[in-house]
This record gives sequence, structure tokens and C-alpha cells, in this order.
Amino acid sequence: MRLLLMGPPGAGKGTQAEVLTERLAVPHISTGDMFRKAIREGTELGRKAKEFMDAGQLVPDDVTIGIVRERLAEPDCRQGFLLDGFPRTVPQAKALDETLADMGVGLDAVINIEVSRARLVERLTGRRVCRGCGATYHVVFNPPQQAGTCDQCGRELYQRSDDSVETAENRLEVYHQQTAPLIAYYQDKGLLRQVDGEQPIHQVLMDIGRCLGRDWS
Ligand SMILES: [Zn+2]
Repeated sequence: MRLLLMGPPGAGKGTQAEVLTERLAVPHISTGDMFRKAIREGTELGRKAKEFMDAGQLVPDDVTIGIVRERLAEPDCRQGFLLDGFPRTVPQAKALDETLADMGVGLDAVINIEVSRARLVERLTGRRVCRGCGATYHVVFNPPQQAGTCDQCGRELYQRSDDSVETAENRLEVYHQQTAPLIAYYQDKGLLRQVDGEQPIHQVLMDIGRCLGRDWS
């Protein structure tokens, strides 16, 4: 099974990816892991990527695509893979298509986990951190017994500035602008499967299974 997993920040993509790779017995290939591996192993492309990252610049497409190509050629990808975080743009998607065509294979499906903007903002801004012991809570998913107070040490909880509504909305806007053309691209190819990510985690997994013709209930 060759899959691509998409979803905005806060959609629960990481959780689903973890379970999916287990159920499907395929490697989880995230861009971050791939870069770290290439850099650690000191491949030529890894060294190039590191130069850009060290300079605080975006890694150019040809380097990224090269690293993906190397990773997909490894033996553990023969039976399939779950790609996460790549491609991010239509040119990258086209390069991926070419890479897979060279390998004589193709994507089976592109799973897009959908969650409304309002719900994503709620998820992304709900984190609260204790000023005393650093324990973390979530106002919706993991609330303290008494609002605003740490269960463990009784100190005040606060919201980090990078968890603000403004930051969350910016992240979501950037994601939307970047991926809307990509979603259309895969829709045109008949590969896109939309899954409702506002359901309980287990139900989301069941729906993904159903898209892939698997009954995991
Ligand atoms: Zn505390």
C-alpha cells in the first residue's frame, strides 16, 4: 500500500500515521525524519540540505526530491510506505509521480484528514503550561481539575505565546494556501479520500481503513 497522508496542524495526523503504519506494515516516512537520516548518514544530499537549514533557508525542491527518491529506493519501501509531510506543493507532487513511475509503481490513495478551521483553532490554542513544574494541560482534551491551576503543584497555568489564536490562524492559513492546489491535484487524479477528522480518533482510523478497502472494526 502506497499512501500519502495529509491534514492541517491539529488534525491528529501524527496519531493516525503511527497506527496506520502498524496496521499496514509499511514504513512511516516523514520529511523531518528523512532529512535527519540523510544528514546523520552524511549523504551528499543530506550535506546540501544541512547547508540550507543551517543558513535558515528553505531546502530547495531538487534537494528534497532527491532525498525522498533515495528513501523510497530503500528495501523497506518495497511493499509500500506512508508518506507524511511530502509533497507540499504541486511541483513536488509531480516529481513524486515521476519517481514512482520510474520505480514502476504508483500511489494507491491520498488520505486527507479534514477538520473545520474553528475546531483546529480550538485544538491548537488549548494548551496550558504550569509556571511552577512545567506540566502541560489542554482545556478541552486534558483539563486540570480546577481551571487555571496545576493539579500537581497548585501554581498558575499560562498560555504560551506560540499557542495564541493569532499564531494558530496564521499556521492554518499558510497550510491552506500551500495545500489547496495539492488537494485539487490529487482530486483530479481520482486519488483523494476525504476523512472526517472531527470524530473520535478510533472512528477516524476506521474511516481511513474503509477508504482503503480494509475492515478494521
Ligand atoms: Zn505545576
